[in-house]
Amino acid sequence: LRNDQLDAWDRESFLHPSTHWGQHARGESPNAIITGGSGSFIEDRDGKRLLDAFAGLYCVNVGYGRTQIAEAIAKQAHELAYYHSYVGHGTEASVTLAHMVLERAPEHMSKVYFGLGGSDANETNVKLLWYCNNILGRPKKKRIISRWRGYHGSGLVSGSLTGLDPFHRAFDLPLSQVLHTTAPYYFRREKPEQSEAQFSAQCAADLEALIEREGADTIAAFIAEPVLGTGGIVPPPKGYWEAIQPVLEKHDIWLIADEVVTGFGRLGTMFGSEHYGLKPDIITIAKGLTSAYAPLSGSIVSDKVFAVLEQGTDTMGPIGHGWTYSAHPIGAAAGVANLKLIDELGLVENAGTVGAHLRAALAEAAGGHPQVGDVRGEGMLAAVELVADRDARRFFDPAGATAGKVVAAMRERGVIARAMPQGDIIGFAPPLSLSREEAETVAGVTAEALKAVL
Ligand code: PLP
Repeated sequence: LRNDQLDAWDRESFLHPSTHWGQHARGESPNAIITGGSGSFIEDRDGKRLLDAFAGLYCVNVGYGRTQIAEAIAKQAHELAYYHSYVGHGTEASVTLAHMVLERAPEHMSKVYFGLGGSDANETNVKLLWYCNNILGRPKKKRIISRWRGYHGSGLVSGSLTGLDPFHRAFDLPLSQVLHTTAPYYFRREKPEQSEAQFSAQCAADLEALIEREGADTIAAFIAEPVLGTGGIVPPPKGYWEAIQPVLEKHDIWLIADEVVTGFGRLGTMFGSEHYGLKPDIITIAKGLTSAYAPLSGSIVSDKVFAVLEQGTDTMGPIGHGWTYSAHPIGAAAGVANLKLIDELGLVENAGTVGAHLRAALAEAAGGHPQVGDVRGEGMLAAVELVADRDARRFFDPAGATAGKVVAAMRERGVIARAMPQGDIIGFAPPLSLSREEAETVAGVTAEALKAVL
């Protein structure tokens, strides 16, 4: 297709997610047609190569162009592109993947249900917990607590669990079954004099006050990402999980660890739960499960949750829940090849070591800029937060515009980072296979772009 034809069809026909639809349709904002990818780089139709320091949407964990995964997908498509997984059906790939996921998950996890993406996996999680509490004879215990700045998807329930205004505004969300509590965001704490430990204690106290106000008998679960992702790439303050988990246990509130970003190595451990000593009842997985070579997600349930689900189907019959594409064979084949590759290449370890190098390089290259308030991260996740005035902790107005300009300037210089959707935060989540030299390029380009814009 000619470029002008492609552009015309794009403007006329395609509603892109998270896009200004009016500007796109009128041709007022740039579009981009991506044609290839290899390692940490993507290439557009004009042949411009870009170092993708956000791995797509923090999902291409093994990097682009992995032939082992492409071949596994092609083999599966030739042999059997599709069969459903209802009433006990499966494929060698889906059964093998379930086994491999459980081998890697924390000890007490029992089984995995496969979906398509992180949003639908979180919808599944909520349904399963509601089902469990009906089986357990506590039909009022249904509400879910999430955190402000959490990101859990953009469906009706998953979008309600998300704690970011752009995902609620004008959609009549959040639904009333969802409550939000304090974001564990130390850099933006309200009381600057608080230590990290004091702030963590306050987050736990805020959670407990909410539970007591609403009644523990009305609250089923607490959902959280081990490290806040889309809300700003914010690792928890010291002592956070140690303070939060006892509150949940005391009130018999189950924990959903949303590991869509942190699962399969991003923090330098196989799961974020392992990294922070979490004991979740359900773990959400997606992205890194297949490194996005095909859509697939999962809900891993613990022994405790499975015991209730088993009791439920023993009394009520088969579970009334399933998607046509649950455990899609092509996604499962991609997942098996991807998890093997992560092991073979030692990518979990690389995420830890090169991730630390990336953060150190960012701190050195950009940390001294007067408009940089914070450089933070964990494993292969990093963020640079911009401030109008560092000492006064004053932020830019309107929020987000400055990070957007810096990210655009970085792209012109060949590196993709992400302006996070709320606040002036430049986010980094490169492939876990990033090299030390690539990490240094990312840091250098960030510093250059900051200098050019601010
Ligand atoms: N949960 C987390 C932590 C995420 O980061 C995302 C997506 O970024 C989701 C859920 C939603 O996943 P999906 O976009 O695949 O529906």
